[in-house]
Amino acid sequence: MNTRLLLALLASALSVSAQTTAFGTKVTEAAPAATTAASPAAPTAGTPAASAPAATTPAPAAKPKSADDDVDNSVVITPFRALTPPDAKTTRTFQLSKMNKLGFTETTKELQRLYSAFATQRIVDGSPNGSSKATGYLTSVNYSLIQDLGDNRFLAKAAWPAAGPNEVLAAGVDTMAILLLDKPAKVGDTGKLSGMHVGTVALLFTANYPPLVGKRFTLRREAFVECATLEDNPAGFQKFIEEINAGADLSVTTNEQVTCKRCGGLGFTREAQKGQLVDKRIPCADCASSGKAIISVETKFVP
Ligand SMILES: [Zn+2]
Repeated sequence: MNTRLLLALLASALSVSAQTTAFGTKVTEAAPAATTAASPAAPTAGTPAASAPAATTPAPAAKPKSADDDVDNSVVITPFRALTPPDAKTTRTFQLSKMNKLGFTETTKELQRLYSAFATQRIVDGSPNGSSKATGYLTSVNYSLIQDLGDNRFLAKAAWPAAGPNEVLAAGVDTMAILLLDKPAKVGDTGKLSGMHVGTVALLFTANYPPLVGKRFTLRREAFVECATLEDNPAGFQKFIEEINAGADLSVTTNEQVTCKRCGGLGFTREAQKGQLVDKRIPCADCASSGKAIISVETKFVP
């Protein structure tokens, strides 16, 4: 599944969401172009209460109103800021046939460690291998549902730990987020899910939670799709090895500690001082004098 498809699921067709919304008696016929009316100019930060009035966006004015057509309760979700996972800084290959052989770094222990990371970066779906690479960072989301947006989509108070290299996805603490659940749920439900971050979306809706009941406005929030990850167990590990041997194109991205290139692991660089025997030592800024650097490494698995 790719990000576009997930966003399509999240956003779905305007007419469908309008029909199935909890408020919904009205079916809006606003053109798809109206969904881009949510201007990306406004800042995303701020609490809902603080940002809501400022972010108020007029309802799509695409068609003239009739007498019984005053209230627009349609839900419009559009991508606001796409997820841009950082590219791995470097790539390396893990060759199964070299495993546990003298002189090679490939070991069973290392493969198991990499598999554990691999399992957390794959979502179980209907693809031929039974799973595919997650297009966003996976994190564990605690939630409390605030409003039903239709089609298993919810506005929720949520909390999640940071994810990704250098915490690309910042942690959420009592933060409003948009969730696409895999089963129907109801407002007030609380729970925990394995969520794939699919970027920030702009949600145009009519709030029905206090103190904003009846207010129509746009929120820009992180969106998560509920999903299952591969199980990190011996059976999964065995299947993983079989897939590599069968020629599957599999890789995992991990943060690895490497020797700092700039200072060669010393934590400082030298500068010759005129008339002095001893060089001046300049603390290495690249590694904060630790001599080590943490970089994102993509490991490709080959038979
Ligand atoms: Zn350094």
